[in-house]
Amino acid sequence: MAGLIRKEDIDEVRARTDIREVIEGYVSLKSAGIGTFKGLCPFHDERTPSFNVRPQVGSYHCFGCGESGDVYSFVMAMEHTSFVETVERLAARIGYTLHYEGGKPGDRYEAGMRRRLLDAHKIAAEFFERNLYSADAQEAQRFLGARGFDPAATRKFGVGYAPRGWDHLLKHLRSQGFTDEELKATGMFSEGNRGLYDRFRGRIIWPIRTIAGETIGFGARRLFDDDQGPKYLNTPETQLYKKSQVLYGIDLAKRDMTKNKQVVIVEGYTDVMAAHLAGITTAVATCGTAFGPGHIKMVRRMITDDGSGGEIIFTFDG
Ligand SMILES: [Zn+2]
Repeated sequence: MAGLIRKEDIDEVRARTDIREVIEGYVSLKSAGIGTFKGLCPFHDERTPSFNVRPQVGSYHCFGCGESGDVYSFVMAMEHTSFVETVERLAARIGYTLHYEGGKPGDRYEAGMRRRLLDAHKIAAEFFERNLYSADAQEAQRFLGARGFDPAATRKFGVGYAPRGWDHLLKHLRSQGFTDEELKATGMFSEGNRGLYDRFRGRIIWPIRTIAGETIGFGARRLFDDDQGPKYLNTPETQLYKKSQVLYGIDLAKRDMTKNKQVVIVEGYTDVMAAHLAGITTAVATCGTAFGPGHIKMVRRMITDDGSGGEIIFTFDG
């Protein structure tokens, strides 16, 4: 999909984005003369600030380690996102609509579809989360409470509840204008003789997010005895969700993973929650699959960038 965003749009988003505002999400800046702000460099360890930001020029430069660039390179370095993802995120942040061009018509279709699928996941995640705090979700609340997760903890992870019934989510997403073709492509629905129906029913839901924090799938745990399905049910492989390339919790763990050059691999969703709440903020889990080459690639990029090595700790049950 690279190169499909119109060049004018890339320039426009860069020009309209306040680089100081974006960088201040990561580094606290102080005024250092006309048009310049200073802070502690996020790219190297230092006690006195040598990281300079010039909002009018739209650039940053560190006199200590030499890192420099624009708002795109900064966000890519901080969030480990691709260029296209970065432009899309910054555009969304200022409410700018991107135009795609070039490539095969199929590529354009894919880029548009990806956006629609991300939107559907965002709406579904909000729908599930809202349901967890409703009177219908007592069983789910009991399950989470018994494991020591209070509402503050469940909100931190965006935990939700898929109500019992066949078409709660289906109706909700249709009312938001999603077509059946789009809904099928989300992996959130199964298809029977009478059409689509909710894949997740009467289950606790964990949103599975990319490193950039976008929801691309769900993990769902069975709650009721009459549920014939498996104990854990995940989103199947979709255009967005490739289980060999997702790590649950990576959006929350990424900063400390990079900082501490460490990752702790645990077994499941509740283990990740428990670890983070206990202060192990580098914990992640695979989603219904073994830790494989795709995961190693993701983790290596984050903890051993400079070749000095890092630490991978496996803590599986038993
Ligand atoms: Zn630096």
